[in-house]
Amino acid sequence: MQQKKDKGQLIVLSGPSGVGKSTVIAELFSQRSNIYFSVSYTTRQPRVGEQDGVNYNFVDRAEFERMIAAGELLEYAEYVNNYYGTSLKVIQDKLEAGTDVLLDIEVQGAAKVRARCPDALFIFIIPPSFEELSRRLHRRNTDSEDVIAGRLEKARVEFKEIPNYDYLVINDKVSGAVAEIEAILTAAECRVDNRKSILARFA
Ligand code: 5GP
Repeated sequence: MQQKKDKGQLIVLSGPSGVGKSTVIAELFSQRSNIYFSVSYTTRQPRVGEQDGVNYNFVDRAEFERMIAAGELLEYAEYVNNYYGTSLKVIQDKLEAGTDVLLDIEVQGAAKVRARCPDALFIFIIPPSFEELSRRLHRRNTDSEDVIAGRLEKARVEFKEIPNYDYLVINDKVSGAVAEIEAILTAAECRVDNRKSILARFA
């Protein structure tokens, strides 16, 4: 059973383009309550179907650079010529209110969160094989061969960061990946440190 917590858990999820992260996140959120998806700020253009304030907060470079200078971001990174970043205030408020917060961010941003928030959970999600990642990117049918080759190359670089994560989840089937993430979150909830208010009843 999920209990109201003193403080929310910060969860960082990274994985290569095409691994199916958004589908896994959507399924996880349909099963779990008291968890908030951190809506990032980005300077990239919205894709078809994306909504401002839902998928991302879409801003221009000047506004993003103002946010950096004002210290409003927990982390940010430049990825394929665009800025992506996480609002510090929103995250802090949610965690203080006892709500878990999930960040879907790439590896450079995750490294910055690791330095600032050592209690966060770091999860990397991979496909069952490199060949399967290539198949999924082709199946999506949205990108040219060049773009797909670039994404696969980037995935190889990102995979080198996996040893810095706490958990490795394999997205063979979505339900399996979600079950693995659920298990990680449940184990984290059972940590003595996260159950101080329950312990107090036995003092
Ligand atoms: P996309 O443009 O495909 O939506 O995202 C590109 C990459 O940026 C993905 O790996 C995604 O996880 C990452 N990303 C999204 N939001 C953030 C953010 O706030 N900070 C960082 N560092 N990466 C992000």
